[in-house]
Amino acid sequence: MIERASQTDTPATPLRRDPISKRVRAVPASGIRRFFDIINTMRDVISLGVGEPDFVTPLRIRQAGTLSLEAGHTAYTSNFGMLELRRRIAGQLEQLYGVSYDPATEVLVTAGVSEALDLAVRATIDPGDEVIVPEPSYVSYAPCIVFAGGTPAMVPTHEQQGFAVSARQIAAAITPRTKAILLGYPNNPTGAAVSREELTAIVRLAVEHDLLVYSDEIYSRLVYDGWQHTCVAALPGARERTILMGGFSKSYAMTGWRIGYAAAPPEIVEAMMKIHQYGLLCAPTMAQYAAIEAIDHGEPDVQAMLAEYARRRKLFVDGLNHIGLSCPRPQGAFYAFPSIKSTGLTADEFAEQLLFEEKVAVVPGSAFGPSGEGHVRMCYATAYEKLEEALVRLERFVTKKRAAKTQ
Ligand code: PLP
Repeated sequence: MIERASQTDTPATPLRRDPISKRVRAVPASGIRRFFDIINTMRDVISLGVGEPDFVTPLRIRQAGTLSLEAGHTAYTSNFGMLELRRRIAGQLEQLYGVSYDPATEVLVTAGVSEALDLAVRATIDPGDEVIVPEPSYVSYAPCIVFAGGTPAMVPTHEQQGFAVSARQIAAAITPRTKAILLGYPNNPTGAAVSREELTAIVRLAVEHDLLVYSDEIYSRLVYDGWQHTCVAALPGARERTILMGGFSKSYAMTGWRIGYAAAPPEIVEAMMKIHQYGLLCAPTMAQYAAIEAIDHGEPDVQAMLAEYARRRKLFVDGLNHIGLSCPRPQGAFYAFPSIKSTGLTADEFAEQLLFEEKVAVVPGSAFGPSGEGHVRMCYATAYEKLEEALVRLERFVTKKRAAKTQ
């Protein structure tokens, strides 16, 4: 019989050194997480906090995933991802934006844009390199750069410019150490999109200063009021220096499948693949089958969900403005980013008090960068009736806070 050492035989010997690397220590935990930890302990909360579709993945896409399992497709795929899927991705990019990629060498299937972004930065950044990032920005951008040993150079954008970065602002942030510009439009958290002219001018700067461009276009299909998405890689001079990232999470409601892609020149894709190969091997096989179905037959679903988001956006943004939470109509994604300054509260106070007093969860704008202060992010990818109820609660809350402020 094997004798087990009792706990008392092996006294605990805590590490005397800091087990956590300095790089990871330096990055604060996401400002969003604290709220979700609180929300999870509460009942009847209307959550406008999480940035994901409330739709389940369309049935035909789910079925493609389950059929792939039933057919026994349970092994690894090529490290690059299944060629059939890479062909579809390249075909879709060509069809939508007129930019062509060789599926054999220029497309990498990843576990979401999250992984694509991490690979893009790690494959191209050396310690000390600076990456220009307009903020407010998606919470992962700056930490990803820091984890790769780079330095994020945050560029503030403002309400007055609709939070759309200008080439002039980017130009002012370029230093001899700048290696890349990270663009994420349509934007999380602001919903802002940048005009074709401005993006063209930003690419011109990248060419002039020989910079890379990482372009996170995960919300490219979610644009409203006839806005035409500009694919950065399709702009003159961009393709050779751009890592284009796109995904399935938002437009096809596939967040849990963990599937996305990067498209870039072969040398860069090869370098990203090296990290991907050693870190992940390949994106989930079942999700790759589902993604093929999404591209082949998912367009009516994309359009149906988009139409519903547009309906909710109108209700919600009009409602916010009516309450006096001024909110320009965002061109893309599914976020409203209203100003809450009229309440006299900080973004943190607003989010916390709204949660406890009215059970509506939103995210303080400051979680996305200093320029987000005075704003909160509200995700309207939530049922219409819940948005109506959220507006009632918001109005009550705002009226109360304004009255308290004037006393
Ligand atoms: N990029 C942006 C701007 C996002 O908002 C998100 C998710 O919220 C992601 C990337 C992550 O996407 P994925 O699910 O494809 O990893």
